[in-house]
Amino acid sequence: MSCLKTDAALSFDTVSDFRIHEVELSLPQGDEILVEMKAVGICHTDLVARAMSPAGTPAVLGHEGAGVVAAVGADVHDVAVGDCVLISFASCGLCDSCAAGSPAYCTRFAEANVSGRRLDGSATLRHGAEVVFGSFFGQSSFARHAVTARRNAVVVAPGSDLVEMASFGCGVQTGAGAILDILRPDPTSRVIVYGLGGVGMAAVMAASYLGARQIVGVDMSPSRLETALEVGATHVLDGGDPEIANAVDELTDGGPTHAFDTTGNPAVIRGAARSLRRGGTLVVVGTGPADVSVDVQDLIAGGKTVRGCIEGDADPQVMIPRLVRLHQEGHLPMHHIVHRFDFGDINDAVSSAVSGASIKPVLTFSTGQ
Ligand SMILES: [Zn+2]
Ligand SMILES: [Zn+2]
Repeated sequence: MSCLKTDAALSFDTVSDFRIHEVELSLPQGDEILVEMKAVGICHTDLVARAMSPAGTPAVLGHEGAGVVAAVGADVHDVAVGDCVLISFASCGLCDSCAAGSPAYCTRFAEANVSGRRLDGSATLRHGAEVVFGSFFGQSSFARHAVTARRNAVVVAPGSDLVEMASFGCGVQTGAGAILDILRPDPTSRVIVYGLGGVGMAAVMAASYLGARQIVGVDMSPSRLETALEVGATHVLDGGDPEIANAVDELTDGGPTHAFDTTGNPAVIRGAARSLRRGGTLVVVGTGPADVSVDVQDLIAGGKTVRGCIEGDADPQVMIPRLVRLHQEGHLPMHHIVHRFDFGDINDAVSSAVSGASIKPVLTFSTGQ
């Protein structure tokens, strides 16, 4: 394969730091584009994936890439070199879900996003003689360059703030999408958001945009509670409070109408369902243990709904331009949650995400290298 040499942050196992090495990246084929990265967000899923990768297998993670198109494959005609793009998750474009405009439920989602290879089974990355786990979420953007299918990239205006917008491709799309398209609170609604990382904060921002009557943020970190108030929460509660259930009930005058869980914590999810007002809905997106118990009799008696979603149910080609408009209008105040780190400081960025010091670390790439 014809290749480009570039630098990528390789992870080798679950415990070691990322190490930046020169790798060989395939040039874009057919429907692919090559993107020179300007910014990439670090998402919880990157850390989960690192923890799951088989020992000794080098991997390039990263799935909130934003950059400038550096080359296009022979079949790409609607994107040109120099265009700014945000890269989102990958989908096949051919299955029933993709055809129906729901690429988040692509029947080949796992193959397209977490198999380590392209959908046709070929690898995009090598490190010396070794094949690297690549094509993570169709991109592997913890690198100076990434190849991705044209359909995973959304073109944005030249001069866009790619650092603030990098996480629109995953975290923000997930949190804002769940509020805007699934829960859809209105000015009579009482919304509660459990877990105030990047996804939870995006949900708070979107609920504030829709003018929900009450927006309650719950987290164990005092600094995150403070930030939630800056981005639109009307109230905050300490998630570590053993009396949290009573506090929620009192604050929301009988329970929230809409709840959103990003923690994946079984006790939090159970409590979130239980606390809902009659007819209320809980959406869960946090990945934790697969088995979680909820009180089904309470769901029945209260006519409550619990449902999951991935990537906010979104079609990135529709959702990302919408998020860009909201951002321009000031409804997504990302500067409150984005923390910039140089690509070379990826391990500091990860530590800061793990410790909770940073809400949304974004790696930036200095030019000319
Ligand atoms: Zn599909
Ligand atoms: Zn993500």
